[in-house]
Amino acid sequence: MTDNLYDAVVVGGGPAGLNGALYLGRSLRRAIVIDSGEARNMAAGVMHNVVTNDGVEIADFRARARKEISAYGVEFLDDEVTSVAPDGDRIVVETRSGARLHGRTVLYTAGMRSILPELPGLAELWGKRAFECPYCHAYEVRNGAFGVYGGGEPSECLAATLTQWASSLTYLSDQRELPEEESKHLAASGIPTVTDRILGVSEHPDGVSVKFADGRTQEFTALFMHTKAEPRIAPLRPWLEADDLEAVQTDERGRTSLPRLYVAGDLGKNMHQAAMAAASGGLAAMAINADLVREDRPGSLYDL
Ligand SMILES: Cc1cc2nc3c(=O)[nH]c(=O)nc-3n(C[C@H](O)[C@H](O)[C@H](O)COP(=O)(O)OP(=O)(O)OC[C@H]3O[C@@H](n4cnc5c(N)ncnc54)[C@H](O)[C@@H]3O)c2cc1C
Repeated sequence: MTDNLYDAVVVGGGPAGLNGALYLGRSLRRAIVIDSGEARNMAAGVMHNVVTNDGVEIADFRARARKEISAYGVEFLDDEVTSVAPDGDRIVVETRSGARLHGRTVLYTAGMRSILPELPGLAELWGKRAFECPYCHAYEVRNGAFGVYGGGEPSECLAATLTQWASSLTYLSDQRELPEEESKHLAASGIPTVTDRILGVSEHPDGVSVKFADGRTQEFTALFMHTKAEPRIAPLRPWLEADDLEAVQTDERGRTSLPRLYVAGDLGKNMHQAAMAAASGGLAAMAINADLVREDRPGSLYDL
């Protein structure tokens, strides 16, 4: 049991888990990062808005981070966590390949999965010509003609924000009836709406071609849209009864109402951005270290 007892088992090796692991390693904590290698932003290939790492390939960022963090003795395991469950004053973490680890704490940073609207051809364009985040992607397609797909999730505020980057904007409602508020926002931004049914989207040399049900097509430099996102929390069932981890997060340092379980990154109460995810991972790691000091030396730190 002592061989696989960690101060912290980090589930997920994205920006949140990696930065948390860096703090844990530098705190001389025994930590392991378990990662299944499916980053939320992988479709984009590169990431932006992380200073000194702007435009860096995600695979390269992750590889360099691992090297840096390994130097502090943190271990890495390429595997999928299948179960995270309490066991007295430990948490037991099990993986698809049969590993069984014990953590005094778990930092859970498994992220979210984007659920794209059902639009034929969209998955192939996702991260290349179709995006959600203007701050991550609009600069690269600046001054272009943007389509904003509002046939899935309402995206009128995204469309208004994009006026900063676009030469023209068209809201594509794909037959969804727009509530008055949504139409009012679009009118206030001066963005026209095309309501026609869309059959699908495809790449063309300078962007995206949208095919309508009446046979006509319209070309855009890029498509933007809000998507749904699914929290990757299956391994926490049945311990976690709530729909997501935000519901059980009790402070800005990632503590939760589940004993010894901490959350960071997209799964916590954070903006869905790499730098914010990394920062929240660091905060959670500091909370873990402080809580373990508190446990090992009762009375040494103020109670929270
Ligand atoms: C297409 C796209 C492009 C984006 N571009 C940018 C950008 O340019 N700049 C920016 O700031 N933000 C960007 N974002 C947002 C950014 O990707 C997220 O905010 C950030 O990745 C969140 O980090 P995270 O560590 O919480 O989760 P993730 O980066 O998603 O990492 C979670 C990790 O946990 C692993 N995991 C999940 N389940 C398990 C399990 N059961 N066992 C083991 N491992 C598991 C996954 O494989 C993954 O590696 C983009 C998002 C998308 C969708």
